Amino acid sequence: MEDCIFCKIIKREIPSEIVYEDDEVIAFNDVNPLAPIHILVVPKKHIDCIAHLAEEDLPLISKIYGVINKIAEEKGFKENGFKVIVNSGKDSGQEVMHIHFHLLAGTNLAHINA
Ligand code: 5GP
Ligand code: ZN
Repeated sequence: MEDCIFCKIIKREIPSEIVYEDDEVIAFNDVNPLAPIHILVVPKKHIDCIAHLAEEDLPLISKIYGVINKIAEEKGFKENGFKVIVNSGKDSGQEVMHIHFHLLAGTNLAHINA
């Protein structure tokens, strides 16, 4: 998608701090972190939000949870815990219309929302 910030990050047209990448998924630090660790886990395929997922996208979404566990393991916060937030659509406050998983960790997250 031409005007999508996250598609531009994927194509390296906008710089970011990438923490994980494979052929289908990228993860990078949020530019405005809400916790000591705030990573955005993003499928490379442009999908607007949960409401726009097609049946064929569901294995990719499942894979993202595996990537989240891998990052949590590598960065050492898997045991302490973490929070995953996915906004979908206007009422959720979603600002970037390319589906993404906020991965928050490194502090008590009970009252943190993304
Ligand atoms: P949303 O509100 O759509 O669920 O979350 C979008 C997130 O993307 C926000 O947490 C925001 O800080 C982050 N973000 C917006 N623009 C950029 C950017 O250019 N680079 C990075 N790394 N994060 C961004
Ligand atoms: Zn996009």
